[in-house]
Amino acid sequence: MPELPEVETMVRGLRPVMEGFSLVELKIHDPSLIRGIEPDRLIDRVEGSRIDRIERRGKWVVFHLALDAGIIVVQPRMTGGFWLIFPARIDHARLTFRLGEPERSVWYCDARRLGRIHWFGSLEEASRAFKKSHGPDALAIELDILIAKLKATNRGIKPTLMDQKILAGIGNIYADEILFAAKIHPERKASSLASKEIKQIHDSISLVLAKAIAAEGSSFDAGYRTVLGLEGGFLAMNAVYGREGAPCPDCGSAIVKGKIQGLIGRPTYHCPGCQILGRRRKKRSTKNDPER
Ligand SMILES: [Zn+2]
Repeated sequence: MPELPEVETMVRGLRPVMEGFSLVELKIHDPSLIRGIEPDRLIDRVEGSRIDRIERRGKWVVFHLALDAGIIVVQPRMTGGFWLIFPARIDHARLTFRLGEPERSVWYCDARRLGRIHWFGSLEEASRAFKKSHGPDALAIELDILIAKLKATNRGIKPTLMDQKILAGIGNIYADEILFAAKIHPERKASSLASKEIKQIHDSISLVLAKAIAAEGSSFDAGYRTVLGLEGGFLAMNAVYGREGAPCPDCGSAIVKGKIQGLIGRPTYHCPGCQILGRRRKKRSTKNDPER
């Protein structure tokens, strides 16, 4: 599933070939993905207008069109992605943007058709819709806000980090990597974390996501490719995700794969040496240790 680094990679790939160019034709191959407007009206509205700017919000790709043409938002969700070269599977193309001078096409493909394409009349409308279902972007959230949000929930820290209403952009892979980098057990209750520990998480969010963006994201199956059809490089350099039994890069313990409460059907990886659940209890027991 594309998370923040994969969507950021898509946006960075699309900018040089789409920003400032006019959208000569929008071909909708699968009208069932369109939200907020009739497909025919969407075409009438946007064709012939210039794409001014492309940005990422959480896991949304946001196309700002010139004048009154509005905003197109693509949510790639599970299997969506953009292609600047002819797609490996043209039968998975759901949308084609044809751009003018020099003429070229950009395809939006989506194998499982779970992605969504929205149209909004204005940036304000798009922002309102985003805020309804999303907290601040994971790369922009301020420490104070993160502390307040985490201390207010008794859920485990991992599902909380993946909750888009708390902060937008983090999914299963990066939640595991962030918690490993912060040395926090994925099943710790969010409300039990000290401010110092939340600061470690906050720092790790920036660190891990920046590293993943530099590597152009993670491709663990056929689901995600860069706009040039290449695999992202992050899973060749990450610490825990998908590394069951391999040694922890910090302490050498074998990485454990398991399931945790609040996350059905998705694996969680952690290091039993670095990410300890009962740290407080451990401290108390050393107090009574006769050896001390
Ligand atoms: Zn370790």
